[in-house]
Amino acid sequence: MKIICIGKNYVEHIRELDRNSNIPSEPIFFMKPDTALLRNNEPFYLPDFSRDLQYETELVVRICRVGRAIEERFAHRYYEEVGLGIDFTARDLQRECVAKGLPWEVCKSFDYSAALSPRFLPLAGLGGDVQRLHFDMELNGEPRQAGDTSKMIFTVDRIVSYVSHFVTLKMGDLIYTGTPVGVGRLSPGDRITASLEGERLLDIEIR
Ligand code: MG
Repeated sequence: MKIICIGKNYVEHIRELDRNSNIPSEPIFFMKPDTALLRNNEPFYLPDFSRDLQYETELVVRICRVGRAIEERFAHRYYEEVGLGIDFTARDLQRECVAKGLPWEVCKSFDYSAALSPRFLPLAGLGGDVQRLHFDMELNGEPRQAGDTSKMIFTVDRIVSYVSHFVTLKMGDLIYTGTPVGVGRLSPGDRITASLEGERLLDIEIR
């Protein structure tokens, strides 16, 4: 099982990180190892190597069959369920990586950096259109992120097609589809809750 994450997939989020950043012309992806998974709404422990550990709430698509070089028009056959995840990011280390042109593993792929909702919802039960979904994230009960998948720069089908031209997708692989605007720093004692189409899926304590 691998975890594929899309960067820069919502315009307003790109702007909040860097006003001068360009909108990408192709999807940008990076990967996290299976040791990054944080399951079952277990607590997240702030790592000691970052002073600016941030949440990114993302729609997660689970791949249900093997595929490579998938054509975009057939991509919808490769996923049936969606969930939510947090792409935990050491923003201070990420800024260093970006400035030095280094890879992102230290800021993105560390242990437990990929929280995953215990439940996934069948897409068919949510209207069937992955580009018409809404998700919300609250920090300590206050709304912080509201995702609307119609605002993705690259659709899920485009992402599945694009990534599969480089990396074979397998059953159980997870695609974190990028975060909307509203990312922010976490402190001990914080609590993240998030819902997909009104259904509470994430409830994570920060320690
Ligand atoms: Mg992200």
